[in-house]
Parts: sequence; structure tokens; C-alpha cells
Amino acid sequence: MKGIGVSPGIVFGKAFVYIKNEIIISEELISEELIEEEIKKFNNAIVKSKNQLNKLKEKTKSEVGQKESEIFQAHIMMLDDVEYTGKIKYEIEKNLYRSEKAVKVVSEEFIKLFECIDDEYMRARADDIKDISDRIIKNILGIIDSDISNFDTEVIVIANDLTPSDTAQMDKKNVLAFVAEIGGKTSHTAIMARSLEIPAVLGFNDATKVISDGDYLIVDGLKGEVFVNPDNETIESYKIARSDYYKKIKELNNIKSLEAITSDGHKVEIAGNIGTPDDLQSVINNGGEGIGLYRTEFLYMNSDSMPDEDIQFKAYKDVLEKMNPNPVIIRTLDIGGDKNLEYLDMDKELNPFLGLRAIRLCFEKVEMFKTQLRAILRASVYGNTHIMFPMIANVGEVIKAKKLLNECKEELKIEGIKFNNNIKIGIMIEIPSAAMTADIIADEVDFFSIGTNDLCQYTLAADRMNEKVSYLYDHFDIGVLRLIKKVIDASHKKGIFTGMCGEMAGDIYASVILLGMGLDEFSMSASSIPKVKKLIREIKFKDAQELSNKVLMMKNSQEIKSYIKQRLKELKIDVIE
Ligand code: PEP
Ligand code: MG
Repeated sequence: MKGIGVSPGIVFGKAFVYIKNEIIISEELISEELIEEEIKKFNNAIVKSKNQLNKLKEKTKSEVGQKESEIFQAHIMMLDDVEYTGKIKYEIEKNLYRSEKAVKVVSEEFIKLFECIDDEYMRARADDIKDISDRIIKNILGIIDSDISNFDTEVIVIANDLTPSDTAQMDKKNVLAFVAEIGGKTSHTAIMARSLEIPAVLGFNDATKVISDGDYLIVDGLKGEVFVNPDNETIESYKIARSDYYKKIKELNNIKSLEAITSDGHKVEIAGNIGTPDDLQSVINNGGEGIGLYRTEFLYMNSDSMPDEDIQFKAYKDVLEKMNPNPVIIRTLDIGGDKNLEYLDMDKELNPFLGLRAIRLCFEKVEMFKTQLRAILRASVYGNTHIMFPMIANVGEVIKAKKLLNECKEELKIEGIKFNNNIKIGIMIEIPSAAMTADIIADEVDFFSIGTNDLCQYTLAADRMNEKVSYLYDHFDIGVLRLIKKVIDASHKKGIFTGMCGEMAGDIYASVILLGMGLDEFSMSASSIPKVKKLIREIKFKDAQELSNKVLMMKNSQEIKSYIKQRLKELKIDVIE
């Protein structure tokens, strides 16, 4: 049976079905004389809830980590939110609801608001309000759930829903895995399970009905599969899968902090892509040697108004300091295409991906652009700063962007503000015309970073967001591969380096071709870093070169992909996908 695999790992064990006491809300109204008493009941429940949440926060901080414990701080803040608590008291007074009913009605309104937001993360926040509401109601009614804070033996916990409060109070050292009917990849249970490295399957329909206490289970948290009382054959095959999986994890853990150097001594750099400073730790934990792409637009998108120079300065400084002395490539604002900024009042365009996007928008809104450049320059004294301009179409745009950067430097000099005058300047190569003129542009910059996510869509004229043309959108396409090779060669001839920060760099099979082509830096999502490092450390540069030369003569991507798989087998390289 299948759910959504949200935290990887394969475990075997006995089920513990966690049934929570049902909350029954009385529809009976109160008389006016009881209003005060009902509000008192509600206030007491708030105090009790806060005490419980403070304890859970401290427990989570010591058992899991500071970041995960902040969920409970958010819950406490909700209890302090007068808009929420005031509305509940108002419902008691106005409609003569019992306090538990008032909490339910108001919470449901808040939940609806969150569920309407077109963002998976924000929708998942509706679960937090449900969690808070259940806690207050249980405290009003004196309901106590079954104890999950102490298990005698190791168990796999099966539940309808596991709220952050449930996972926090759980006896986690005896929990082998979680299976729940509710939840998805970005729910807090998923985040918590990944941090604790407990395998988890969520969104598993009817889990509490089809699984009983004591059932023997196999849970595969990667594939999202759960086997209930499996036969011997399944057990045996999963035992093999489990030992293979943990052997690979161990291998990756052992190599992740080592250099990315081929077995015949060719060294490359493996870096991580981040959207916010919060993503940094994961890059460091996975052995990232730098930040190859800091997508600064998230700073703008996560704000209701334009972030000012100081806010930006602090964010850039934070990342630079934490990575120092390793390099950080800060990409200037890439808004437009599918990324919109409400407060910028941008015109609707017929072809937004071909319109006023990224550097083009920055040239249109020079003050906004210069604010960002000044913030980056000010932060540059705190670490190994690289600045990168996105969506460059020709050398003229590079010259124009550099001129604006120089204007900012002059302003800062006059104001007596310190900055590093030698920060490295680079561009993203994601438009075919820039790839074709890489030799010309190379005279103006210190590095290139190939953005294959866009380079693919512009080379193949296949919208990266459109499922119907996804058969064309392929970074193994020979046209794309030849452009990449051209860029790398042109940069090396001019003595500058080329990296890649598009998704292709983290594709294990593509990474062999790129290595062979001479790519200098690979930047990817944190979780891909160990497996790409492992491959690079196992292969010989000369074999990768031979492989990429062969591939560049092939006609289609199917042929390319199967050739790489077969060649890696011949070279006895064990690939972890
Ligand atoms: C790219 O285009 O490959 C890239 C890394 O930029 P983004 O995905 O942010 O457009
Ligand atoms: Mg791009």
C-alpha cells in the first residue's frame, strides 16, 4: 500500500496505533449569566496550553533542535494573538457559544483563510491552527490522550494525524517510523521526521483502519510503501533492500566532507544552491564547499514590501559570514517569468519568460537594482563574495550592469562605507545567445555559471512550466550539451572558470558528462551533494573525458542516457541515484 514517502529509510517492526480521544463539541448554548464563567474557562485553557507548549518547546530544542522548536513558539504567539483570542471571546458573548464551540468556529475560519493560499507551505500552516485549536479544546474539556511519551519496546506509530505536539511529546528513541493518514512533504511532521532521521510515510489513506496494534510492518520511507503482515518473500527481499540502503547511506556519510577529486587527481568544486539563509546549514551538513547560487529573489518574495538596503545587507552578511572563507555567489534579483512581486506592480505580459525578467527588470528599475548592489557591496567585507547577473543576453548588458555596480562603489566611497573592491563578477549563461558569444563576454567577467533550467527552455523553445512540452525539455538534448561544451571551452581559453547552478549539475548521470567536459564547479540542492561527490571520487577524469567526447557525437538523449549507464557499469562505478 502506498502513501507519500517524506523521510527516507527502511524499517521493520510492530505497529502502535495511536487513537486520539474524540473531541465532542456541545451545540448547547449558555445563558447570559454564564458568559463570564465561560470566558474564564477559556482563559484558563489558554494558560494551561501555554505551559504545555513551553515544555514541548524546551523538550524539542534539546531533543531535535532550535529550528524545529520554533514551531511551538509560533503556537504560543498564536495564543497571544488578540485577533484570534478576542474573536473567540466575542463569539462566546455574542452567540452564547460554549467556549469549546467558539474556539472551533473561529479556528475553522482561520484555517479556511490559510487553505486558500496558493502555496503548499502556507497551506500546511492550517495544520498548525488545527493543532492549537485541538489543544485549547482538550484543555477546556479536560480530555487526555493516550500516553505516547513512553513506549516499552520499539514501535512504528500509526495515526490519523500526527501534529507537531504529538511528535514532540513522543518517546522518539523507541519510534522506528511514522505512518499517518494526513500530511505531505512540507507538513511539520515531515520536517520533524527528516530532522530526526525517522522514516515516515504520510498521506496513507485509512492507515488506522487497515493496520491494527501489533501488526508486523515494513515501512519504506523513500518510496512511501507500507507492507502489513508481509509474506516471507517480501520480508527477505526487503531485508536485502534495507541493508543495501544503509550501506549506501554510510558510504555517503563517510565521503561527504572529503574533496571532490577524481581518482586520477582532477579536482572540482561542489557547492549548494540556496534560497534563504535558512537553507545554508543543510548545504554545510551535506559537505557543500561553497554557495554556487544564492537566489536573492526569495528575500523579496517573502516580504510585503521592497526589502530595504539594511535588510538585504543583513541577509547577505549572514550567508557570507557563515560560509567564510568558502565562496558565495550572490545572484542579483531574478524576478519575472513565473516569479512575481505583488508590490512592484508589473505589467501583464504575453510571454513573461521572454519579457521583462531578471536583469532586464533591474535595468528598468535602476534604483531598486542599485539598492541591492549597494547591500551586496557592503556585505562583501564579511566573506568571499561573488556577484552574478542573471538572464544576460549579450555583452552590452554585462557592461551596463558593471557600470551600475561601479556607480554604487563610487557612492559608497564618497559615503566612507567599506566594501571589497575586488569581488568576483560573473554572469549566468542561460540564454543561447550568451552561450554562443561566451568568448566575447569572457573578457568582461571572472566566471560563468550555466543555468540549465532556463538554457534548456530557451534552446529548445520548450516552456519549463508546461507539462505538454516536457518531452522536449531535456538537459541531455544534444543541442544543449553542445552549447554547454562551447561555454566551458570558451571560458578556459580566456582563463576564467565555469560552474553550473541549474538542476542538471545535481543529476548524477549528467554530472559525468559535465565533469568530462571540464566543468569547474557544480552547484546543486544540498541533498544531491554527497552522491555527486561520491561519483566524482570514484571515476577517472580521463574516463569521464572519453565518455563526454563520445556523447557529444551522439544523436539523441535516449542513446546518451543508456550509454552513460552502461559505461558506468563497465567502469564498475556504483551509482546512487
Ligand atoms: C537556471 O535557470 O538554471 C537557474 C539556476 O535559475 P532559476 O532556476 O532560478 O531560473
Ligand atoms: Mg534561470
